[in-house]
Amino acid sequence: MAKGRVIIDETICKGCELCVSVCPKHILKLSETKTNSAGYSPAEMISDDCIACTSCAKMCPDCAITVEKFD
Ligand code: SF4
Ligand code: SF4
Repeated sequence: MAKGRVIIDETICKGCELCVSVCPKHILKLSETKTNSAGYSPAEMISDDCIACTSCAKMCPDCAITVEKFD
């Protein structure tokens, strides 16, 4: 069961993939359908297996990720 979820600010994300590379559950991916106003494909969650480890949020150079922990 998911222990949390991430909220990614698509307007800030620059598609660097650092969050994708550190996620231990491999549930982050750059969008194949969306592009933000700066022309980048933003990261998104592709499954609900998030363990709320916060690695992605700590790694993001632009602070685009907020991790919400479930009770
Ligand atoms: S909080 Fe951890 S498990 Fe959840 S998406 Fe980020 S890196 Fe992956
Ligand atoms: S680390 Fe941040 S800027 Fe880079 S792809 Fe992930 S959310 Fe976007």
